[in-house]
Amino acid sequence: MRVALVGNQNSGKTTLFNLLTGSNQKTGNWPGVTIDKKEGIIRTTDFEIIDLPGVYSLSAYSSDEMITVNYLLEEHVDLIVNIIDATAIERSLYLTTQLLELNIPVVIALNMTDLVDRHGIKIDYDYIEEKLDTTILQISALKKIGILDLIKVIKSGEYRKNQYTHIFDHELEELIEKTETMIDHPFSRFISLKVIEGHQDYQSYLTNDINQNIENIKPKYHRDLEQIIVDERYRYIENIRDDSVKWHKAHMSTTDKIDQVILNKYLALPIFGLIMFAIYYLAAGPIGSMTVDFIGTLIDGLSEWLGAKLIIWHASDWAQSLVIDGIIAGVGSVLNFVPQLIILFLLISILESTGYMSRIAFFLDRVFQKAGLSGKSLIPFIIGSGCSVPAIMSTRSITDETEKKMTVMLTPFIPCSAKLPIITLFAGYFFNDHSGLISASLYFFAIAIIILTAFIMKKILYKNHSSNFILELPSYKVPQVSYVIKDVYQKVAAFITQAGTIIFLASVTIWLLISFSFTFEYGISPDQSMLAGIGRVFSWFFYPFLGSFSWEASVSAIQGLVAKEQVVSSMAIIAGFSEDTSSGSLIFNAQAFGFFTGASAYAFMVFNLFSAPCFGAVGAMARELGDSKRLWKALGLQTGIAWILATIVYQIGHLIEVLL
Ligand code: GDP
Ligand code: MG
Repeated sequence: MRVALVGNQNSGKTTLFNLLTGSNQKTGNWPGVTIDKKEGIIRTTDFEIIDLPGVYSLSAYSSDEMITVNYLLEEHVDLIVNIIDATAIERSLYLTTQLLELNIPVVIALNMTDLVDRHGIKIDYDYIEEKLDTTILQISALKKIGILDLIKVIKSGEYRKNQYTHIFDHELEELIEKTETMIDHPFSRFISLKVIEGHQDYQSYLTNDINQNIENIKPKYHRDLEQIIVDERYRYIENIRDDSVKWHKAHMSTTDKIDQVILNKYLALPIFGLIMFAIYYLAAGPIGSMTVDFIGTLIDGLSEWLGAKLIIWHASDWAQSLVIDGIIAGVGSVLNFVPQLIILFLLISILESTGYMSRIAFFLDRVFQKAGLSGKSLIPFIIGSGCSVPAIMSTRSITDETEKKMTVMLTPFIPCSAKLPIITLFAGYFFNDHSGLISASLYFFAIAIIILTAFIMKKILYKNHSSNFILELPSYKVPQVSYVIKDVYQKVAAFITQAGTIIFLASVTIWLLISFSFTFEYGISPDQSMLAGIGRVFSWFFYPFLGSFSWEASVSAIQGLVAKEQVVSSMAIIAGFSEDTSSGSLIFNAQAFGFFTGASAYAFMVFNLFSAPCFGAVGAMARELGDSKRLWKALGLQTGIAWILATIVYQIGHLIEVLL
């Protein structure tokens, strides 16, 4: 026996799956958490159960929907457990009407029933059961209520076998039935509907006779048949809802009350701005920099101690230099920023788990729609403040291909955690009292550029394109401590692993390149090193926004392709060589970087923020864009935008500096 768990995003599928199987898959508030299907065995039975990606319909347009549809059609599913969020019945039943067309038995698990009273809803379950001719079980996956009953029903096979009830109007229903008889397929009703809707992937079933029948009915309706089918489904569901769901009048949940203020038309954006500013202020401002200084002192201490030891151990000059000027300077300069990242991740994670982030996404939907993106794109952007790689992967839940591609390209614009060291280093040194403000300004700069770029791309590349968004609005929740801790731990661990592996190797490479000349001489001045040679070739590219031909800065920016933290590491290594200092905060005292002014510092941050992302993110982009021509175009566009913006920022900033 094979059971498929199907439902909307955030309906509690994974929570229920874990209960049924005793496994521990990640649950979360974001679409895209369950990206691939997961399999397990239902406890006390030998039934196999599959947790499919969350979908709102079986329209088979997005990759999530495709995974689900193909699974149901091809993998011999014996029973569908359709999990429904009881607080959002209307939206959930849309999917149910499609599942009932599959000739596979369906049992409805009505989840979140613990919230029903609090939401002031009263549901006539028997009526819905009767109407859909489908067994309904009330459960709460979170509170572990009704789970044993559900297992019992699945095991015994004692559920209604859903005699399909007609939902479309008479003539359409007739057409569907006629088409069904002409299609030889176990899921002929489902396929018939797809053919009538004119779905591209099912055109092979469209024979001349079927086409004739469809053409005959068209004059009766003035619109697209696909639209008519959608409308009729909603009409059917609305009727069921009107007859079965009652709201207690004048009842207002806490969530509604909070929303009245936080999602208020005029206040929502300023509040969101203030919150994000506060987060960046705390992470990158005075508190954050205190922690950086503290860790910096520790690393300096370690560096001195190890340096003395190496002399006692009679290590050769180059070995001492490799450890102190290469590895410790490079890796240490990045580790400096760990406490700041913990603050940032912690605050964002708390905000996520309260449900605020999905609500603001919903609100911003309207703003984003004007630019051809929807609130769905906002989710990758928010995840992207940690790391672009999972953020780019989460674009899989975006239904609209065009919007998905645009989001993939724009997500790396968001300052990820690896860019934070660059931002705080520069902001802290050049704008000391305003470092929090400057860091936050970059975040908003990024959002503004994303919207602007999307808007322009939409105008030029993809005309007449609209997208829609139906993200669930979960109620506000008290942040789950365990989720927050796990989330922050995972992100910090990933950052430290990166420092220990990629940054380590890159630092050794940089050390080699700066220690040796092209003729492999050691003990040369950095100016004669291979690194300087390489940097000089590219320094003209950076001149327009640095105001100086600096091989040092060019090399550092190029290093950002390996990993953005490496920009700071390589600066630390180069500074250490040029002067006798390896500490991150003293980087700008070194002659190599003495040319930086406020304007070029801001411009350099802007360039690193928007230019092609690190290799990891490029890999993720390649996977999601699926074609190398598109990838190169996206990378070129990103770097081009970065260059232009940095140059504008520098030229204006420089002018102001000169005038003052
Ligand atoms: P999925 O996207 O369908 O896999 O949903 P998840 O299993 O990840 O759950 C989404 C969120 O809803 C999580 O925060 C769960 O803790 C929460 N949740 C799941 N079931 C229930 C329930 O019965 N009651 C309440 N109050 N919350 C639930
Ligand atoms: Mg899930």
